Amino acid sequence: MTTNRTFTMIKPDAVAENHIGGILHMIEQGGFRVVELQKVALTAARAGEFYAVHRERPFYNDLVAYMSSGPIVAAVLEKDNAVADFRALIGATNPANAEEGTIRKKYAKSIEANAVHGSDSDENAGIEAEFFFGK
Ligand code: GDP
Repeated sequence: MTTNRTFTMIKPDAVAENHIGGILHMIEQGGFRVVELQKVALTAARAGEFYAVHRERPFYNDLVAYMSSGPIVAAVLEKDNAVADFRALIGATNPANAEEGTIRKKYAKSIEANAVHGSDSDENAGIEAEFFFGK
């Protein structure tokens, strides 16, 4: 089941600038079905837990502050080859390197405030979906 699912967040900058609809439109146009959807504000502690894998990176504290600076939209998406296809749809981490037609090319402001998250593996997609939607 997880091979056909990925997890995304619309990040605080994109939510603050009223791009939820535009980004969900690109996601649906890209062939993804929205399975779960939730708008929520992350505390710094919870943002830190989500990005714990980056704990040693120099930008970790900035990333946690940014991700807890305003509400995000979390979603589980379904499509064949969901993880890889979604990474292609969002584009490179740094929007300066993102290809035309990608979500980050259109909506990202910087390497940090880059509009969307997309899981990097089936395993992490499952862990991240559980983090928000686990019962
Ligand atoms: P992703 O898988 O494309 O989201 O990229 P990473 O897993 O490498 O990084 C996670 C998130 O940390 C990115 O989406 C950015 O929001 C942020 N980030 C990555 N690299 C940098 C950086 O060099 N500086 C800052 N400030 N933030 C970064």
